[in-house]
Amino acid sequence: MTDFSSGAGWVGGEFVPIGEAKIGVTDWGVTHSDITYDVVPVWNGRFFRLDDYLDRFERSMARLRLSVPEDRATLHAALHKMVALTGIKDAYCAMVASRGSPLIPGTRDPRKCGNHLFGWTVPFVNVIPLDVQARGAKVRLAETVERIPDTAVDHTIKNYHWGDFTAGLFEAYDNGADTTLLADRDGNITEGPGFNAFIIKGNNVATPDRHCLKGITRRTTLELAEEHGMSVAERTIPKEEMFEADEVFLTTSGGGVIPVARVNERVFSNDAPGPVTMQLREAYFARRKDPAYTEAVDYGAVH
Ligand SMILES: *Cc1c(COP(=O)(O)O)cnc(C)c1O
Repeated sequence: MTDFSSGAGWVGGEFVPIGEAKIGVTDWGVTHSDITYDVVPVWNGRFFRLDDYLDRFERSMARLRLSVPEDRATLHAALHKMVALTGIKDAYCAMVASRGSPLIPGTRDPRKCGNHLFGWTVPFVNVIPLDVQARGAKVRLAETVERIPDTAVDHTIKNYHWGDFTAGLFEAYDNGADTTLLADRDGNITEGPGFNAFIIKGNNVATPDRHCLKGITRRTTLELAEEHGMSVAERTIPKEEMFEADEVFLTTSGGGVIPVARVNERVFSNDAPGPVTMQLREAYFARRKDPAYTEAVDYGAVH
């Protein structure tokens, strides 16, 4: 029996253990970051908002003019089968579409590459480690690098253009922080490596509307805040406004609603997770179990 317990890949239509899931070195996904992906969380054996993640992924492929042979139903079945093969109940389940390798060696023509679709599943990944989530993250607002503008890279397409984030992470770690948050050229906050950012002031919740991915966790949080009677806004947020907020938090499929205890020298909520953030965090995890927003993994799909 093949052992899929540490993860499974789906490459070239085959299901393989995660360590055997590989793509070619001439793939434009590798050589040009010409690739898009999405990650849907599986929690307690259920996919969360799978149709919304698939919608975003299909839109990303269309905007990059990627055309893969498989249809949505095939991808949907493959995601179920990958998770089923691993038997994992809390999983990080990725789908990826790449430009692929050039069909004419050395060509610079993006139309002449073999676009392909693949996937991989591993045990759930916390983008911010659990112990950091519990005490509230220390965030470094980057000073040495800015978020690449959305006029250069369309952030609404989930992508691997991580040069700015990686530089920001080095700056954060060099300064004793847990992660980085990037500002745009005008000093407005944007997002961090794999998460969106929010501020709370009184009964108001706000999150940036530009230079960031439209996260599904972001959307879920906006919906929940509204249901809790808060006023919500997607708009420009100058960094000075963040420093004057009551609370700051981050959102990602890889951890949900994540409290922030500090940004640079500014300490929030006595250096602990803020009360409104914790309410939203609880509401988010309740939603992730809600049958109306989830679909059970077909663990019988292994055969
Ligand atoms: C994935 C990601 C997010 C969070 O999106 P979710 O859909 O909530 O997981 C935010 N920013 C970037 C850059 C991302 O890659």
